[in-house]
Amino acid sequence: MGVQLSEIEGQPISTLVGAYMECKSCRIIDRDTDRMTHGHVCSTCKVSGDGCRLFYPWSVTTLLDMMQSSFHAELPPNSWQDHQQREVSVVLFFCTLREVLLNYFIERVARAQRHPAPDIDRMLKDNATYMQRLTKLLPMLTGKKWAEMLADESAEASLDYLALDRHVHLAAKRRNAFMHEGSQGLIDRPLAEACINQSHALMELYAALHNRHAHPLLWAQDKTLRRTTLAKDRPVD
Ligand SMILES: [Zn+2]
Repeated sequence: MGVQLSEIEGQPISTLVGAYMECKSCRIIDRDTDRMTHGHVCSTCKVSGDGCRLFYPWSVTTLLDMMQSSFHAELPPNSWQDHQQREVSVVLFFCTLREVLLNYFIERVARAQRHPAPDIDRMLKDNATYMQRLTKLLPMLTGKKWAEMLADESAEASLDYLALDRHVHLAAKRRNAFMHEGSQGLIDRPLAEACINQSHALMELYAALHNRHAHPLLWAQDKTLRRTTLAKDRPVD
């Protein structure tokens, strides 16, 4: 069995599970780090690129590393402090990570569908909670329920997204018990460990969702833009 993410201490886990590149032309997301090389040909759109963008925002990579540093934080010797403070922090950061990723995905899909920025703000405001965004807003934008979206991605991935989804719900349930009732008892080391180890599947899932629901629209827009530019640049006979 390979090394688990939760066992890694010397290297920020964001460098391992957060490094997704976005092609500047077709906007496909993958982990092809050669995209950073000038002239690298994208395997999807075949356009020779001049670099790429990192897909996930800074807030995502920060949350990943905060989870890791909290998990491995040293407690003062002979401390009377509750050891669970490390585990509670990890679970809180993980639950924030899932919300940030969902919001980012929603914004990317809505922008790919050419919704104006004020409309996107209104959609997010009208669906203020994570569950409203997952069960109402997302189906409205993609035409699919969350369970169907998970099934689509599970069919093509080696990762178990259904197990990931079960873990996300369990972590959120225990986070809520802590947030609303101060109950720490349900947050333990195995739950925190699973949060770190499932972060890879979470990042993969949202990259795959982007490639299925936003990338085709963005790629079509890029092709149209290229045709228009070529026609405009063509010398007049
Ligand atoms: Zn491309």
